[in-house]
Amino acid sequence: MGAGRITLTLPICGEESGLRNVDSNSDLLIEAGRWINLQREERKCRFCTQGVVEDEAHALLDCGAYVHERRAMFDHIREFYGWET
Ligand SMILES: [Zn+2]
Repeated sequence: MGAGRITLTLPICGEESGLRNVDSNSDLLIEAGRWINLQREERKCRFCTQGVVEDEAHALLDCGAYVHERRAMFDHIREFYGWET
């Protein structure tokens, strides 16, 4: 991780390690759905039951499947920037 850059690693199926990073080349359905001609509104999250599009914002900020990873990410951000809780 470079200075000022924080990466959240989320468990997404299909990776050899079982883990991958969320970035512009992600396997999130908002991106991967383009390659299989899936309409945007049909690219619903495969990891929760919220029925919303599986995009970066959902994965990082809202998806119920990543509660623990999100908590660890925000703990890391607070520690990195020296913010009090
Ligand atoms: Zn979700």
